[in-house]
Amino acid sequence: MKTGFFNLILSLLALGVSIGCFWSSDRSGTVAAEPEETSADSSPQPESASENRYGSVKKPDKGDFIVEHLDVKTPRYLEIDKKVRSEKLLSKAADQLNRALILPNDIYLRTKDCSENNAFYDSRDRSITMCYELMEDFFETFKSTGQAEQAAYAKMFDAVKFVFLHEIAHALMDAYKLPVAGGEEDAADRCAAFINITELGDEGVRNVMAAAEAFSIESKRNGSKRNLADEHLLQEQRFYNSLCMIYGSDQNKYANIVSDGFLPKERAARCPVEFQRTVDAWGSLLGPWKKE
Ligand SMILES: [Zn+2]
Repeated sequence: MKTGFFNLILSLLALGVSIGCFWSSDRSGTVAAEPEETSADSSPQPESASENRYGSVKKPDKGDFIVEHLDVKTPRYLEIDKKVRSEKLLSKAADQLNRALILPNDIYLRTKDCSENNAFYDSRDRSITMCYELMEDFFETFKSTGQAEQAAYAKMFDAVKFVFLHEIAHALMDAYKLPVAGGEEDAADRCAAFINITELGDEGVRNVMAAAEAFSIESKRNGSKRNLADEHLLQEQRFYNSLCMIYGSDQNKYANIVSDGFLPKERAARCPVEFQRTVDAWGSLLGPWKKE
């Protein structure tokens, strides 16, 4: 009896640490696979003493982001798969990341149909999977508010880029063994906002905006299905947090977020400090792993 319960706890723990996903678990259509044995310890070995421009001692580079396009089994995703491949969306992202970050191990970037509407990082094989079902859902989500197909399609890609960086954050927390004070899902959202806003300029802000809009639409659609036990914050909270990061990054440039009533004044007043704390935290956590 005791052994069975202990095994159950172990299984739950293994699932808990190995899957970092984007949406609440109640949106998933499938159950995660049985946990496997954890592979060799990937803890970084101290050996290099060179410094990057942040004054951090650089860690040794032992890995890359590697793209793997898996075969699509669902006919309706063939078109989007062709576009993702022909425009080298994942390869370009991998190149950018490989130029910027030192890795202690390889991390695989995959797109495929997953039979679930999600994106996730799996620490068992160190892979990020972006499911075509999630892209389709974003497209339908934006279209559901009456937006034209072309606009919905563009916003879908913007929101997907935010999700991709959210999953990258999970992968980095695992690869670098980063200390996370607070919820990992919120930390992943904030890391995605941090990279988008500070590294990708206006395009990055557009990505965070698109994700925020999707959170807002979803919250209205799923209002009665809130799951307070889920590790993700509620969609409304993710919406306000995303807007807070954008507004906090430049109060003048993004003043309309408050004047148009999207973000309450009381919260907005705290956003510059919230944004700066996020920048300081992620800047110092990633500092030793930046190539330049
Ligand atoms: Zn996540």
